[in-house]
Order: sequence, then structure tokens, then C-alpha cells
Amino acid sequence: MKVKPLNYDITLDIDLKNFTYIGEEIVTLDIEESGSEVILDSAGLDIKSVRFEGVEAEFNLVPDKQQLIIQLGKEVSPSNVKVDIKFSGKIEEKLAGFYRSKYEENGETKYIATSQFEAADARSAFPCFDAPGHKATFDISFIIDEKLEGITNTSILEEENLGNGKKLVKFATTPKMSTYILYFGVGEFGFIKDKYNDIELRTLAIAGKEQYGQFALDFTKKCLAYFEDYFGSKYVLPKLDLIAVPDFGAGAMENWGAITFRENLLLVYPGKTSKSTLQRIAEVTAHELAHMWFGNLVTMKWWDNLWLNESFATFMAYKALEEIYPEWDIWTDYVIHTNFAGMDLDSLSSSHPIKVEVREASEVDEIFDAISYDKGGSVLRMLEGYVGKDAFREGLREYIKKFAYQNTVESDLWNCIENASDVSIVSFMEKFVNQIGFPQVNIELKDNGISLSQNRFLFKSNGEDKLLWEIPLVVLTDKSNKLKFALNGQKDELKASYEIVNINPDYTGFFISHYDAKSLELLGRNLSNLTNKDRLGLVHDLYMLVKASRVKADILVDFIEKYFSNEKDPSVLVYILWKLDWINSMLKDERSNKVLFQYSQKSLDLIGLIPNENQKPIEDSLRSQAITSLTLGNDSKIAEFATEKFDAFLKDQSSLEADLRSVIYSAAVWLDDSHYVRVLELYKVADSQEEKLKLLKALCYSQNPQSLANTLTFSLTEEVRFSHIGNVVYNLMNNPCAQDLVMDWVLENWENLNKKGGGMGTLILKRVLEYSVPKLGIGRKEELKKFFSGDRVKGMKMTVEQVFEELGVNERLVEFNSH
Ligand SMILES: [Zn+2]
Repeated sequence: MKVKPLNYDITLDIDLKNFTYIGEEIVTLDIEESGSEVILDSAGLDIKSVRFEGVEAEFNLVPDKQQLIIQLGKEVSPSNVKVDIKFSGKIEEKLAGFYRSKYEENGETKYIATSQFEAADARSAFPCFDAPGHKATFDISFIIDEKLEGITNTSILEEENLGNGKKLVKFATTPKMSTYILYFGVGEFGFIKDKYNDIELRTLAIAGKEQYGQFALDFTKKCLAYFEDYFGSKYVLPKLDLIAVPDFGAGAMENWGAITFRENLLLVYPGKTSKSTLQRIAEVTAHELAHMWFGNLVTMKWWDNLWLNESFATFMAYKALEEIYPEWDIWTDYVIHTNFAGMDLDSLSSSHPIKVEVREASEVDEIFDAISYDKGGSVLRMLEGYVGKDAFREGLREYIKKFAYQNTVESDLWNCIENASDVSIVSFMEKFVNQIGFPQVNIELKDNGISLSQNRFLFKSNGEDKLLWEIPLVVLTDKSNKLKFALNGQKDELKASYEIVNINPDYTGFFISHYDAKSLELLGRNLSNLTNKDRLGLVHDLYMLVKASRVKADILVDFIEKYFSNEKDPSVLVYILWKLDWINSMLKDERSNKVLFQYSQKSLDLIGLIPNENQKPIEDSLRSQAITSLTLGNDSKIAEFATEKFDAFLKDQSSLEADLRSVIYSAAVWLDDSHYVRVLELYKVADSQEEKLKLLKALCYSQNPQSLANTLTFSLTEEVRFSHIGNVVYNLMNNPCAQDLVMDWVLENWENLNKKGGGMGTLILKRVLEYSVPKLGIGRKEELKKFFSGDRVKGMKMTVEQVFEELGVNERLVEFNSH
């Protein structure tokens, strides 16, 4: 029977003391094809009764398919009908569905109830048609304690005191929308508010923390103005809430009109929040606001096109940042954190295409990854570069206008952009979106031209690298001369004279360039004529060849030493430090270590040890990395500096600059284990999650095995939130003294950690695998493969394949560079 939900009228009577609720919903359905049963999605709910058109109906639950099947007892023809379902549910301690999050207030343990329905967890809160294509309107009501605040996607319509200490809160009807962006929140929230035009804006947090939402509130006003102008379409709801949630699986979630965030990705503590955290908060907020259009107003038809949501939000967030913070040089950051991150995952044969087959909604949680966000986002930047900014924007405006409140597939977007531009994009985009992997373009200089060829780039070739792409190239042949050229076949030749050859100016293309010795030397000698993105690209592409064991690590170190001694750009310098640190940690290589110290020192000479207000967030990252490298290398001057800073901080906490806090806490513990206890005390009393995370990181930087073991034990206590476990594993993985301990700890505690997975909670477990197995599993592959199998890694099949492939890549790298 084919049905379409039109409206859900839902009332939840919520008991936050016992973590339960009783629900009743009246679903208005449009029966499109006649039949005798209605199937809804429902998981873990206790269904009390079902009435169909006012008459009691039979029903049964199929738990393994998460279905509620209603038997109508007769054939029902196309019409609009009402189904009334009474049910009850639990507010569980996990990170998906309608769940609870704990916090302390004046020594008292308190809870909020909050929801995370993406991808397929609305069904665990109420019976529904839980797929993005089933858009409907929602009328929500809560019965809650009168002292609590209730939040959903829309404004409160009316409140009625029920006399028993409870109140009924009715919310306005939502626009037509998908179930995964619905929101339920109940608790003692505090808020600050403002207005953008007629839209009520609030930031909410557990009471007492709301004052730290001012930055996000101000930023949201600017960002909404930017998106409304860019998309040529107004934000459609009369209110927008930004909600800080203490326990949260992802970074943030774009519930329409009620966006939820990890606390440390929303709240800004003046004097304590670093510039790089501030940049991250702005980026995450912009990303979620972009979803109000891309995802919420226009939604993918099915999860296979998840990238239509995530790639666009990733890309559009940076466009907003460029407008609001032009001084941040944000597209250079994009090249590092989006292009390079997308390529790293896509270089594995266990990667997946941007548009990926998804049969069951339960498979979706795994594809919230670097392909859906970063590769997709990079391909959009390439597309914008190809059609031009104006045509790209016109195409998007048309797309939003044409498909508002509806669902789309990728070709709907291609058609709109192609209509707005004078070039054809379909076949070139289809290859990048539907085909796994990305190309490596090989460049050979000839006397009268440039020979170009392509093959799929893989860290480890599996014999399946015959794929081809249509690659639109802009070839720079001297300082300013640009030639347009399309490499469509495996090989081609471009007749041209040249002084230098740069085939990926500003790294707009999603491919790596393998230059021959002559062209690489020409580029190296002319670095000053290249942009910082070009210089980053040169280091990155060479690094990829090193990781693929096609080029020895020495070659990359030589290249950096030979050509980058005059480098002054903080983005390029920090990237160089990361890569040298990577070589050093993978290969324990003395020479790269020496160059790492030189470049760290040079970087600090350039930007200074003490941050100044006018510096960019990237300079903050550069300083932190340089100080960390020198500290781990036991540089005596840095040790003196860090010790002085930490001692001064213990006397007067306000003496330590926000941008230095994290790195000084970690250095203090590394240099003197007696600081460990002090840092642990500070952690316990810290009021912000950002500060707690910095102190938790420092607890991972001891050189004393006993202290490190304490950190691991501590991380499983109530003091450390499950959502921060990934941070612990990541930081210990980077501490050269901790690496043996961590992998064993993960194995010993996996069963326990695994219990907290499911829905977005699985993201945390994925991170634990990604941070531990590829590096710490070197030499232990078979044992680990045996362990991470079957039910132990349910819902993480692709992640497991990826981390073990990456482990193989690393093992070969060590072998290849050992002689
Ligand atoms: Zn998103």
C-alpha cells in the first residue's frame, strides 16, 4: 500500500525524573494506492493502541526490521485518513534518538532530554515514516514540569498550566519537512536572545552558561544575512535557536530552527577561548546555517545523495567565513582541511563514491565521513572554478527556488547550474561524483610542449586503477599566462612554450600532480611566483607519493629544505611542520626531526612566542605546533619558557593567554610529571568543555607510564564524557611515550565502549578505530583483524576495511624507507 504522511499531531507527556514519556500521535495520511496494511518505522517503542479512522486496529511489531505494521482488516481505497497511535518510550543514556544528557549544578546531578534524529533515529522516539523523502508538517505538544523549558523546531503557540505542577506547551505547525531534522528538547535551559529582522534568535545552554553564547548569536545574524542574499531566499521560520548540549555525538546538528551543538563548538569564554576554537565555532555555525537551505528547505530524496547536504554545507560555510572574516585567508584553510582530508580517505581502495549506494537507513551513519563532506566540498569548489562564481550562484538560486520544500537528486542540481552557465558540466561532474577515487595527473616536459597523462591515485594499487576522469585544467605557463585544457583521455599533449608549469593553480582541481624532475625543479626555483595554496599543493602532492611508497621520505625532506627556507606563510609553515612530524613519528627519522626543529624555531622567530591580538587563527595553530615539536624534542629554551608560563598561571590564571593555554598545559605535564596532579585537579573544576578538553589533552602528555595509565583509567569514569573518548585516544597516539599502552587499552575496553555506540554514538567508536589502528597496529595486523570483526564492529564495516588498509599502507611505508 502506498501512503504519504501529510501531518503528525504529536503530544508527549515527558517524565524527566524517570526518563520515560507517554506519547499520542495522530498521523494524517494520503493513501495513494489502495491496500490493507500501513507500515511505519518504529524502534524500541512500546505501542499501546492503534486506531484507524477512529476504529481500533490490529497491529504487530517487527523489531529486526524496526517496523510497526497496522492491519486494516479490509482494502482501503485512495483517500486522506487519520491514524491514532498511543505509545511510550524511554529517554536513554546514549547519543541518538530522544536521549538524556547529564550535568552538575552546585554539586547536584541534573539532566536535559534532547534529540538527535539523523540519520534514522526519529523512529525510536515516535512511530513515523522515517525517510528524508517523506516530508510532512508537524504539530508538537509537550506536557512537562512547569519549571522546565521545552524546545522544538517552531515557536511556542500557547502554554497552559495543568495544575499538577505540569504545563502543556503547544508549538506552532512546522513547514513541510523531513523527520531527521525534527527536534525535541526539555530541561532547565538558560538563554540569551536577539533579533535578526523579525526572526527571534536565541542561544541556549544549561542554565548559567548561556551568557557564553553571545559570539554565536552575533555571528548568526551576519551569517543569515549573507546566506539570504547569496541564495536569494529568506530564512523561513520565525525563530532560530542555537542549543549547547553537554553530551553530543557529532559536532552539531541542523534541526530546522533548533540547531544543536557540542558545548565547545558553540560557547565562547572570553580570555579562555583560543582563536582557532573561535574559527571552528564560526565554521560549524555557518555550516549548520547553510543547512537551513541545503538540507532543510531542499532535501536529498534518499541518503545515497547525503553529499548534497554535507558537501554544500561544507563549501557554503567557507563562503560565509570569507565574507565575514576576510582577514582569515579561509580558502587556504579549506585546501588543507577539505581538499587534502578528502584525498586522504579517497586514496584507499576501500573508499566509496560521493554518491553511494545505501540500502538501509542504518547504513547511513557510516557515510558521515571525509568523502561526503570534504571530497564533495572540494569537487564543488572545482565546479565553481569551472563555471564561474556568478553562474554557480545563479544555478543555486534557481535550484533553491524550484525545489523548496521538496526532495532532489544530483541531476536536478546539474541541470540548474548548467542552465545558468555556458559550459556543459554533466559528464565531468558525474565522473567525480559517481566514480570512486580521484586522478593523479603526470606531467612530463617536452621541448615544444607538455605531456599529460592520468591514472587513479591509490596509496596501494589493487590493479583497479584504470579509471579515467574528465579533468578541466588551467595550466599556468609563466607568472600570468593561463591556458585552458581538458584532459579527457588517458594521455594528451599540450603544445606550449613555458617558463614554469603549474597545472593546478590555487589547488582548485581535485587531483594530485606528479611532476617530472624538470618541472618540479622549475616550480621549486620559482616558489615566490606561486600562491600559498600552490606551495601547499606541492608539499602535499609529494607527501601523497611518499605515503604511497613511490617516493622515499628523504625526497620530501630534501625538497622542503632546498626550496622552503624562505617560507613565511603560516599555513604553509604549519603544514610543513605537520608533515615533518608525520615522517618523524612514522619512521623515527633523525634527519626529518632535525629539519622539524629548524622549521619550528624559524616559525617562532617569525610570529613570536607570545600571541598578539591581531594575529590570525592559523598563526595560533602554527605557534602551538612549533612549541609542541620543540617541547617533545626537549629544547631547553622552550622548556624554560613553558615552565615560567605555567608557574605564573598557577599564581594568576588570567596571566596565561587563551591561545597558549592548551600547549602550555601539555608542555608542563611533559616536562614535569609532578604537574600531572595539578592539571587533574584543574580539570575537575573547569567550567567549560573547551578548557576541560585542553586539560584532558595535557593529561595525555606525561612521560610517566603510570600517569598515562591513570589517564586511561580516568577516561572511563563519570568525569570524562563518552563523546570525548576519541580525544583521549588521539592525543595519546601522538605522545611517543604512550603508544604501546593505548592499543592494548582499546582492545581491553572495546566491549564496554561498544555498548555506547549506535546512531551518532557510532561516530565516536569510528574515531577510536581511526586514531589507533593505522599507526599503533603496525606489526599487529593479524591479531587486530581477528579482534575487530563480527558484532564487535557492527555498523562499522567500511571503517574497519579502511583502517586496516591504512595500516597496510603504513607498514609498507616503514619497510620501503628502511633501506
Ligand atoms: Zn552538516
